[in-house]
Amino acid sequence: MPDDSLAARAPSGTHDVLYPESTRWEAVLAGFASQMEAAGYGMVHTPIFEDVKVFRRGIGEASEVVGKEMYEFEDRGGRALALRPEGTAPMVRAFVQHRPPLPWKAWYATPAFRYERPQAGRYRQHHQLGVEALGPSDPDLDVEVVALADGFFRSLGLADFVLRLNSMGDGVCRPDYLELLQEHLAERRDQLCPEHQERLEANPLRVLDCKRAACRSATDDAPALVDHLCDPCRAHFQRVVTGLDALGVGYQFDHRLVRGFDYYTRTTFEFASAALEAAQNGIGGGGRYDGLVEMLGGPPTPGIGFGIGIERLLLACDAEGVFAVTPAPLDAFVVDVAGGDAARDLTAELRRAGLRADRAFDGRSLKSQMKAADRSGARVALIVGSDETVAGTVAVRPLRGSGDQISVPRARVVEAVREAAGR
Ligand SMILES: [Zn+2]
Ligand SMILES: [Zn+2]
Repeated sequence: MPDDSLAARAPSGTHDVLYPESTRWEAVLAGFASQMEAAGYGMVHTPIFEDVKVFRRGIGEASEVVGKEMYEFEDRGGRALALRPEGTAPMVRAFVQHRPPLPWKAWYATPAFRYERPQAGRYRQHHQLGVEALGPSDPDLDVEVVALADGFFRSLGLADFVLRLNSMGDGVCRPDYLELLQEHLAERRDQLCPEHQERLEANPLRVLDCKRAACRSATDDAPALVDHLCDPCRAHFQRVVTGLDALGVGYQFDHRLVRGFDYYTRTTFEFASAALEAAQNGIGGGGRYDGLVEMLGGPPTPGIGFGIGIERLLLACDAEGVFAVTPAPLDAFVVDVAGGDAARDLTAELRRAGLRADRAFDGRSLKSQMKAADRSGARVALIVGSDETVAGTVAVRPLRGSGDQISVPRARVVEAVREAAGR
């Protein structure tokens, strides 16, 4: 018996994007590319999978992502690999390998893979846009990166979102702060959620952004890292704030904003859509990761970047009722009931002239081809029957709006379509 258990369905937690919804994806990508390139960022492609150590070292063993969610596998040569769970570590690995000149400003668009419980806006394969800027430790670069993300969101029409901002300090001031926090939390250990009672030592910072009420009330009066920054970290943060003010980028301080990955230092930020439910409202975020290049075997090189989840971003656009992209209509649809030569040649001619043209196949009837022309959304139908073939003309029939069918000499068709389409 044939095995018919092959369900013709995408794997759980993944999704297909079909036309015309894909038109929005194209517009998101094109808008992101042009805005980042206008700011001096160049596109970079890296492999979908990497040596698993890139993520273990780059993201940290204690993180949820590496511990529980990564798609790890052994290839046929026995190599330990993982599908990328995020965009930054592979970009930094590529930087360490190729050592491009500094500053290195790069953008990417990539799928990312995490074995999470599927839910709205959260997928096992989701898609990210991001930038990484390596070299300068200048806080004005932090301002540039944050402002680029903010400007991109606004270019889509989004307005109902907040930028949360914090500093994670650095290797000088964070250890002392962690001790203070540890002390504070140890005194309240029995008030914490069960997960954090157990995992308090592994990553005390994560208790700060725990969403459970128990942890939240236990950390309400916890010491904040911004109040314990060393002088250089405080000056850096102050310059970032000054820059965002100067550019008119609004923000809120949030001392609970600690990102899950070990490599973050100093500036950290997150954009949250107020139009989405609180548990699922992050539309992008990032921060500075001055230690990451070294962790991955490169020379000490500061860096900062952000990532944006495309699926979540489009949900936020839907929630705000913005960024409804409609596909550009066809200019012409060629209807040929005289054997097919005209459809073949005229369609090619229109396309070579830069016009958007389509046609029917399989020698269908006039009625069927006209139906296809209507369905296509084209502005005009170009009709060629035996009369037109003999006369060397083409009938141009408007499909939308008013106007009468006219007969145009074959040599003037491109011009006529251009006129009808206003192009
Ligand atoms: Zn907790
Ligand atoms: Zn510091």
